Amino acid sequence: MIDEQEIEKFLVEPGSVVELQRFQTRAGPAQDKEYAGKAVAELRDRMAALTETLYVDGRYSLLVVIQAMDAAGKDSTIRRCFGSLNPMRCTTAQFRSPTVQEKSHDFLWRIHQHTPPRGTLGIFNRSHYEDVLVARVKGLAPREIINGRYDHINAFEKMLYDEGTRFVKLYLHVSKDYQRERLLRRIERPDKRWKFSMSDLEERKLWDYYIASYEQAMSRCSTEPAPWYIIPSEQRWFRDLVICSVVVRLLESLDLHHPSIDIDPNKIEVD
Ligand code: ATP
Ligand code: MG
Repeated sequence: MIDEQEIEKFLVEPGSVVELQRFQTRAGPAQDKEYAGKAVAELRDRMAALTETLYVDGRYSLLVVIQAMDAAGKDSTIRRCFGSLNPMRCTTAQFRSPTVQEKSHDFLWRIHQHTPPRGTLGIFNRSHYEDVLVARVKGLAPREIINGRYDHINAFEKMLYDEGTRFVKLYLHVSKDYQRERLLRRIERPDKRWKFSMSDLEERKLWDYYIASYEQAMSRCSTEPAPWYIIPSEQRWFRDLVICSVVVRLLESLDLHHPSIDIDPNKIEVD
């Protein structure tokens, strides 16, 4: 597990102004791939045990929000970091372009239905943040409506926090060059080609606008109850190590426990 101090490097301090270029996209020289592999295996086991206790404890849920540019590795993050959890303790939701019905409601309507119930870990593959990211870049709503959404997001997340939800919000940070490599890989590999879409190339042209929108979103919506982390994501082994460390640390901080059951095992017979 990477230590508290190292984790803090990736945290967006509430109230700070994010400049993404100041955050690393790769591991530092002190990090070792072989060590990381072992640490991640151990952290995944710990996370699995902690989510069982999260369920028995019943007071909290954990919502992991994952946002990233196209092809940055959201799918492999979910598979590799959360793939060994008990499916009964998890929920997942993937947010695509809203349907006609979803569009006819406020932007949080479709989100709220997918927040994890107490006792479970929920994973959002994209999220309500799309409504201040792609919506801003593409002008999908009037500017003043989008400008109002940051406060609505903070209020929504605070409400969920007060009702027992804990948050880990992850931005998978990669460079534009790295995205090029990953898009080329999608095109070249027959088993990955289905993931490629011509629209990825159009979105890529808007890279700088997306970066500016991410900076704005993370500056305005990294809060004490729901902080953002900017995860170096160009090496999967280091990305996994940071993410598993952040999640395990949060679960451990909740002081989860089994309820005390008032029975004397010596007095019970099962025939
Ligand atoms: P990958 O990164 O692996 O391609 P993906 O998350 O991009 O996966 P897709 O089905 O390719 O999955 O794309 C989902 C699309 O839906 C994204 O382009 C995203 O911007 C868009 N989307 C999600 N939420 C909204 C929203 N609220 N408004 C408009 N578009 C949205
Ligand atoms: Mg896509």
